[in-house]
Amino acid sequence: MCEDHRALFAEPTGRRAALGILGASLVTALGACAAPQSAAPAPAPAPQNTPPATAPHGRPALPAALAGGHSTASSPRPPSALRRPGNKHLRRGFIPDFKLPPVQNGLAPVLTKIDTKQPVVFLTIDDGVTRSPEMVRLMAEYDYPASIFLTRNFVQADPGFFKQFAAQGSLVENHTVSHNINMVTQLGYQQQLAEITGMQDYAQQHYGRRPTLFRPPGGAYSTAMRQAVAAAGMKAIVTWETKSNVGRMDYQYGNSLRPGDIVLMHFRPEFAADLAAFRTAQLAAGLEVVLLEDYLGVV
Ligand SMILES: [Zn+2]
Repeated sequence: MCEDHRALFAEPTGRRAALGILGASLVTALGACAAPQSAAPAPAPAPQNTPPATAPHGRPALPAALAGGHSTASSPRPPSALRRPGNKHLRRGFIPDFKLPPVQNGLAPVLTKIDTKQPVVFLTIDDGVTRSPEMVRLMAEYDYPASIFLTRNFVQADPGFFKQFAAQGSLVENHTVSHNINMVTQLGYQQQLAEITGMQDYAQQHYGRRPTLFRPPGGAYSTAMRQAVAAAGMKAIVTWETKSNVGRMDYQYGNSLRPGDIVLMHFRPEFAADLAAFRTAQLAAGLEVVLLEDYLGVV
């Protein structure tokens, strides 16, 4: 039922700004990510795309000017400095052309898309209700790093499952303790902060790292939430403008992936079909899947 897990700001079509600056004090979810999916049997996924044999790890070839980093970058940091041996972090040595805005006036920034000209796309996977070995296998096969936004109450029966993605180069991030999709309207600041810090502590305990990114259940956020996210020590709220859902891509703008898109998926029974749809779109757009935390410098 998370199918309308939409971003909440109707920004002008074509706007490529990365920041959804909050003007109002409250944003209401238009269609929220509802309760966890039922445990209905997974429909037989029909992969729509088979990795071409000529593309090891499935990554598209990059323009030469970009493959070694941004040619005009003035950063003295060599590409290798962004790499973490043994995993998938920025393997091609992109030097990001986007800078994450800092927390200002106690408010965490909100990212709906990354404003970049580089051929990168960011995969995010939410919740954690459904778990299967196939998910781990597919992520390894496609060699995708992802930001994994977990909800404590969904994963606490089997937190170890998600360590497998972390071992592949993905990172666990914060999607609250209880996944209350109405938290911006039903919970006060202190209660929101408790939802957030509870998951921070859980992630620290089980995955050895305090998350730096927060995804609101259902996508709705508010000034109080931005304050709570910053107070919890995180760097940004991350929403999306594109998702892969029930085996197909769903674009708020246009009909293909754009550089800098943040793509939403879920750990659901139809994971294989969703990932196949994303892969088809990613290859068609010639984008490389890069870990969002690496790109933002918030690993
Ligand atoms: Zn969710």
